[in-house]
Amino acid sequence: MRAIFDNSYARLPDRFYVRQDPVPVRAPKLVKLNDGLARELGLDPDALASPDGVAVLAGNAVPAGAEPLAQAYAGHQFGGFVPQLGDGRAVLLGEVIDRAGRRRDIQLKGSGRTPFSRMGDGRAWLGPVMREYIVSEAMHALGIPTTRALAAVTTGEDVIREAVLPGAVLTRVAESHIRVGTFQFFAARRDTEGLKTLTEHAIARHYPDADGPLALLDRVVAAQARLIAQWMGVGFIHGVMNTDNMSIAGETIDYGPCAFMDGYHPDTVYSSIDLHGRYAYARQADVGAWNIAQFASCLVPLIDPDQDTAIERASEALHRFPAAFRAAWLAVFRPKIGLAAEEEGDADLIHALLDLMAAERADFTNTFRALAGGAARGAFRDVDAFDLWAERWTARLAREADGQAAQTARMRAANPAVIPRNHRVEEAIQAGLGGDYAPFERLVSTLAQPFDDQPENSGLRAPPKPDQEVRQTFCGT
Ligand code: AMP
Ligand code: MG
Repeated sequence: MRAIFDNSYARLPDRFYVRQDPVPVRAPKLVKLNDGLARELGLDPDALASPDGVAVLAGNAVPAGAEPLAQAYAGHQFGGFVPQLGDGRAVLLGEVIDRAGRRRDIQLKGSGRTPFSRMGDGRAWLGPVMREYIVSEAMHALGIPTTRALAAVTTGEDVIREAVLPGAVLTRVAESHIRVGTFQFFAARRDTEGLKTLTEHAIARHYPDADGPLALLDRVVAAQARLIAQWMGVGFIHGVMNTDNMSIAGETIDYGPCAFMDGYHPDTVYSSIDLHGRYAYARQADVGAWNIAQFASCLVPLIDPDQDTAIERASEALHRFPAAFRAAWLAVFRPKIGLAAEEEGDADLIHALLDLMAAERADFTNTFRALAGGAARGAFRDVDAFDLWAERWTARLAREADGQAAQTARMRAANPAVIPRNHRVEEAIQAGLGGDYAPFERLVSTLAQPFDDQPENSGLRAPPKPDQEVRQTFCGT
């Protein structure tokens, strides 16, 4: 891989990371290369797909200019604080400046043990690697900030989980891998110098016009409020919103037991480890606020020399989250029902539809998509209830400045036709395990144009039949 690296994280003090090369694997084989993303990064897709390129993507060769390291971080996992987590199965190869001048992290995930591996083997298996590839690229095509997938390779080695499974490595591309948990790592050690250095680094990298820690906090509040609203707009449930899985850059990161809902209900949970619904669909904004409160408390020593003043300022910033989220949520959901103008009663109108959907577990994606085609009525058993709602809706649409064509266009641009449904992701993984990547390829290419009808792939739009339904998703670690 001929890339021009400029590794700003590797220039931070030693205690921010441990230098660590990826651990070589037996027989690397390319499963999928993201040609478009490679070009965006200024990399040559053909070179990446060659044996030398695949060696890099598998961790068997370290490209010139890379300075591999495992990042240190901490985090609240399901509310319990763990003072040291860190990259236990990933290494950051380095940073490249892409063709648009953006700095991007290139990370190998599943690249072997590091000093942060604890009891783990440092590896990943093919299932979660395919899953992250499919879902993160779908997210990007849906217009939602996310880490990207540059490549997936198999290692030719076994990984032992509940069964013996094929090992794999994902090459992940991100604005950065700085998490709320990275700040917590230094705060827990009362390392104010480290916090200050990290804050300056994060500002320079992600919010260069923010003038200090309080402004950084404000930006993260805004970015996360918007991100979570966008997730909700496509029925996405992250599943493990631990503070180590919340990016300061505001990208969706760490696709574990995440899922897109089929039938809508606000309490929906898929993750097998989320026993109490902490990270249920409709709880995500509250959890986001909770995570940002942890971030704010890390910044307190930097905000003002007087602790009371610092806490007051941080709390004010934090208290802006609910309003920021409400505004972002409306900005996401208004166009989903064709609205551009803002009226007082819009949130009620949207919630009334969601309540009807929840009562029948109407399919989230298809019901919204059907609004534009005038076919949503067919999604409901209680047609009378829908008709009553539709009367309110029609009256509200009539107060828009533009006409039906514009409203329809708005809905089609806000309501995807296709999302990565769990049963399709599962099907693609199962086929992949058997050596057949055709369903994976078809899913990835269809999901690259999620707002197009693509009648040839209409099967991917159908909700699961009862026997196809996936009720639980797993971390896969
Ligand atoms: P995650 O659930 O992916 O957010 O990971 C939480 C923590 O566990 C991180 O510190 C990971 O690096 C670590 N971890 C997860 N799986 C493994 C594994 N197979 N080997 C070593 N560390 C792991
Ligand atoms: Mg994580």
